[in-house]
Amino acid sequence: MKENIPEKGASVQKDMETYAIIPYISGGIVDSTMLRKIADVADKYDVKIMKLTSEARISLHGIKEEDLDDVWEDLGMTPGGHIGKCVRPAKSCIGDMCCKKGYQDSVGMGKRINEFYCGVSTPRKLKIAVSGCPNSCGESAVRDIGLIGTGKGWKLLVGGNCGIKPRIGKLLAKNLSDDEVIALIGKILDYYNAQGIEKRVGAFIEKIGFEKFSQDVLG
Ligand code: SF4
Repeated sequence: MKENIPEKGASVQKDMETYAIIPYISGGIVDSTMLRKIADVADKYDVKIMKLTSEARISLHGIKEEDLDDVWEDLGMTPGGHIGKCVRPAKSCIGDMCCKKGYQDSVGMGKRINEFYCGVSTPRKLKIAVSGCPNSCGESAVRDIGLIGTGKGWKLLVGGNCGIKPRIGKLLAKNLSDDEVIALIGKILDYYNAQGIEKRVGAFIEKIGFEKFSQDVLG
């Protein structure tokens, strides 16, 4: 029976024979060249199913194990799809790049978060979402770390998720600049990793206590 191959970003599928990979698409922004390349790879390796994921990526399903290395090479990407216990690629709404309601550059913020933290090991998977305004199209309140743009900067929520036990994230800080967001996420990750408690961020905070978590992380 086959198993996941994390170093190749490959998840074994229901048939227990073939694999799925998810090419890295930072900020959910694609161009025609990237789409053509993904489509060409799908044709070449007989990928039967391509799926737009909830994190604004494109998963390719039904890849043979012996083709995995060639698929990544043809995509021009380093193998690995950020699966398992790590920081996943941030999900962003379109934000002030195009949306008239946007206060902040959610795509740019998501890309910057990815540059710093995507793939960093964590006790459990950690999802981040970035929304350019309080309408929260990025679903920031139900991610382990959620950002919401306002006229005064960013609000940062922690502990949300929409998993087995859904949780709404709690407000940790507001009026943050871009640099302050990056720094605070770094502190959260350091603290989360240092405790060694293998729970999603929301359950981890519940165990620690939100007051203690806030004091420890915010100093
Ligand atoms: S969250 Fe706000 S900025 Fe982002 S797409 Fe929705 S309305 Fe636009």
